[in-house]
Amino acid sequence: MISLETPKKHRVLVDQAHQVAMNMLRPISRKYDRAEHEYPKELDMLAAMIDGLAESGSSSGAGAAGVRRDDTDGDDGRVRNGTNLASVLSVAEMCWGDTALLLSMPRQGLGNSAIASVATTEQQARYAGTWAAMAITEPSTGSDSASITTTARLDGDEYVINGEKIYVTSGDRADSVVVWATLDKSLGRAAIKSFVVKKGNPGMKVERLEHKLGIRASDTAAITFTDCRVPADDLLGSPDIDVKQGFAGAMATFDNTRPLVAAMAVGCARASLDLTRDLLARAGVEVDYDRPAQVQSAAAAKFLQMEADWEAAQLLTMQAAWMADNRKPNSLEASMAKAKAGRVGSDITLSCVELAGSLGYSEVELLEKWSRDSKILDIFEGTQQIQLLIVARRILGLSSAELR
Ligand SMILES: Cc1cc2nc3c(=O)[nH]c(=O)nc-3n(C[C@H](O)[C@H](O)[C@H](O)COP(=O)(O)OP(=O)(O)OC[C@H]3O[C@@H](n4cnc5c(N)ncnc54)[C@H](O)[C@@H]3O)c2cc1C
Repeated sequence: MISLETPKKHRVLVDQAHQVAMNMLRPISRKYDRAEHEYPKELDMLAAMIDGLAESGSSSGAGAAGVRRDDTDGDDGRVRNGTNLASVLSVAEMCWGDTALLLSMPRQGLGNSAIASVATTEQQARYAGTWAAMAITEPSTGSDSASITTTARLDGDEYVINGEKIYVTSGDRADSVVVWATLDKSLGRAAIKSFVVKKGNPGMKVERLEHKLGIRASDTAAITFTDCRVPADDLLGSPDIDVKQGFAGAMATFDNTRPLVAAMAVGCARASLDLTRDLLARAGVEVDYDRPAQVQSAAAAKFLQMEADWEAAQLLTMQAAWMADNRKPNSLEASMAKAKAGRVGSDITLSCVELAGSLGYSEVELLEKWSRDSKILDIFEGTQQIQLLIVARRILGLSSAELR
């Protein structure tokens, strides 16, 4: 039988993350939304706490860095303690507090997930404790990440990287940036590899920070790489170009990061639902979960429909993470979770603004902020349309050339 409850062993972690979200993130949420580009210094203490918990084994981390596929207990291939599930559950709780602050958390970057996905064991040990951003998008390439033009050329025992990356989350603050570049454009997507470029490398320059609709506490950088030299062993994984494997290596990152982004949407939407239910109750509208929607007020019926959508998104997210924990291929489920959670996250947060009326639109409450923050979760790590395309390809058994 399927259990739809949060697994018992993760409940303490979820409670801890919820407390942190409520007591440490919510109080500074509005401050850093207004102070765009200012580093939330309060996060240093929080990150140290999370590191401590992770080291003591009481937590697998509250962000992207928690995702691993090789922390196995034994021969059965099961991942220790359900690390992926623990990560998505705690990420959702932290985003109940504030999505932008979660994205700004030191050592929990999306680049850390890339390292977890494709780095060798030796590299994982070497990069342990680093904070890594991820740079794929370029001025001429977003959704079609196989078309990137940034190049990496081997010169002795170093690679020389040239190109431009835009919209790099934590690109200014992180210790390093995981950069996607091609070793040989003529060999297509199989030649795309990722490289760890450390902050302070003279060939890497942050050109500007973007002003954004939401997640304003998170820095989003445009970065240029000009004859940027990195040691050859900072190429993540194998340097071999395996034309048969194609893009699979680099794309494996997304199987880990998409459930995390879905979890962010689930957490942010939950925050909106919880507050809206309170506001409705204060206005005399009780939502009765035991009676059919059609016999309740329009506001209550709308609320119930949003709850159902939220639940579907949460279950898909948990499924994608559970599959990763059990070493099952989860590309389809990761995209389903991201598509559903990204879409309903935006729908729910905006509908909550609508249900709360002028209070929802004002800065008195955080509803308007959450509706701005949630939109990006339907865009980065693959847009809504791209997720649906991937789902269609997987279900129909068509390649990216056959269905584009
Ligand atoms: C705040 C923010 C943070 C970001 N952080 C990062 C980061 O850390 N690292 C990083 O590498 N990138 C990051 N990005 C970039 C993000 O991943 C891209 O914006 C995204 O992949 C979409 O690419 P694009 O903007 O070039 O849109 P395009 O690819 O040009 O797409 C434009 C529109 O066309 C649709 N579309 C495209 N192709 C198809 C198709 N085949 N079928 C149907 N519809 C299609 C898209 O869904 C979209 O609606 C970030 C972006 C933002 C705004």
